[in-house]
Amino acid sequence: MAEARLYFDWNAGAPIKAAARSRLVELLGRPGNGSSVHAEGRAARAALETARRSIARLVGAEAKGVTFCSGGTEAANAVLTPEWTLFGKPCRLDRLLVSAVEHPAVARGGRFPEGCVEVIPVDRNGVVDLAALERRLAALSAAGMRALVSVMAANNETGVIEPVADIARIGRAHGALVHSDAVQAAGRLPLDIETLGLDVLTLSAHKIGGGQGAGAIVRGRNGFGFSPLVTGGGQESWMRAGTENVAAVAAFGVAADEALADLGRASEIAARRDRLASIIREMAPDAVVFGEGAARLPNTLAFAVPGVAAETAVIAFDLAGVALSSGSACSSGKVTASPVLTAMGVDPALVRGGLRVSIGPETIDDEIEAFALRARNVLAAMKKQHGTAAA
Ligand code: PLP
Repeated sequence: MAEARLYFDWNAGAPIKAAARSRLVELLGRPGNGSSVHAEGRAARAALETARRSIARLVGAEAKGVTFCSGGTEAANAVLTPEWTLFGKPCRLDRLLVSAVEHPAVARGGRFPEGCVEVIPVDRNGVVDLAALERRLAALSAAGMRALVSVMAANNETGVIEPVADIARIGRAHGALVHSDAVQAAGRLPLDIETLGLDVLTLSAHKIGGGQGAGAIVRGRNGFGFSPLVTGGGQESWMRAGTENVAAVAAFGVAADEALADLGRASEIAARRDRLASIIREMAPDAVVFGEGAARLPNTLAFAVPGVAAETAVIAFDLAGVALSSGSACSSGKVTASPVLTAMGVDPALVRGGLRVSIGPETIDDEIEAFALRARNVLAAMKKQHGTAAA
C-alpha cells in the first residue's frame, strides 16, 4: 500500500476544514443572490452576514468594517491605492512604504504609481527596520506628504512576525495610514485591529482552511475608506462590486470560527515545528534556520542545508510523498531567488537552498515522525548524488 502523503505546505494553502467544506457544499446546492429580496436571496444574505461577523471576531473588528472579495491578492490591491476618504471626504496619499519582505501582492504596489513606492529594509531576521521607517515618514511629513505604510503581520516564507503595533504607532505619529497583510498571521497569531492600531488589514480564506475563492478587507473604526478596486453594483456597501461568492464566503466564516479556537493550540503546533527543526539538524548539523532570532509563527520552518539545491530537494521530497516548498517565488512557474531571504542578507548559495515546511493544527505527531524517516532517505540520496553536506 502506498504510504500516506505528508502535506507540509499549509502556508501555500491549508487543507479545507471539514466544517467549512460542509458549509461550502451545502450552499453550492442552493440558489440565491445575496442582493435579491426573495427568501432565497435573503438566505444568501444571512449566510454572508454570519460570515462577516465571524471574520470581524477573528480580528477584533466591527462586522461593518469587513468587505469580502476574491482573496488576499485582490484585498491587497484594493487597499494599496493613493485614493482614500476620511468620513467620506477625499484623503490622498502620496507614497506607499512597504517592507522588503512583502508578498508580491503587496510588493508590486497596487495602484500606486511606480515612482511612489518605497521599500523599507529589514534586519538579518527579516524584521522591519523601525528606525528607517520612522526617518522616512518624518522626512515625508516634513515635506507635506502623507504615506500609506504596508507591512505584513507575519511572513509567508519564514513565519517571522513583524512588530505591527510599533509600526502602526510610528505611522500614526506621522499622519500615515497603516495596512497589514495578515494573510499568514490570521488564525496563527491573536490579532486585534484596534489594539494593534491598524487602519486596515487583509485576509485570505484558503490560508485558514476556508477553501479558495474568498478574501477580506477589514477596516478599523476610524472612518477611513479606500477607493474601490472593482466598481459596478452596490454590493459590499459599494466597496467591492460584483455578486458575492456566497458559498466560499460562508466557508471562510466557518473556518474563521475554528481558526479563533485553534489559537489556543499554538504551543502544541510550535512544539511540532521545533521537532521538525531538530530532525533536520540531526541529519544535517550545518542546516540553517531562517529568522530563528525573531518571533515566528508556530507553524512555519524555513531552512537550508548547505549544498542542497531547493528545487531538486522539493522534487525529491515530493517523490518521497512529502509536499513542502522552496523559499522561492514560483507563482508563474518560473523559479527566482527568494527576495525575502535576499533582503535578509542571506548568502546567495543558501538562498538557492531555501526550503519551507509549514504545518497546521491538524498535523499530528505521527506525520512528523514519518517525515523524519523520509527526510533521512531524501537527504542521504542527495548527498550521494552531489557529494554534499547532508548526512
Ligand atoms: N499575502 C501573503 C503573505 C500570502 O502568503 C499570500 C499567498 O500566498 C497572499 C498575500 C495572496 O493571497 P491569495 O492567494 O489569497 O491571493
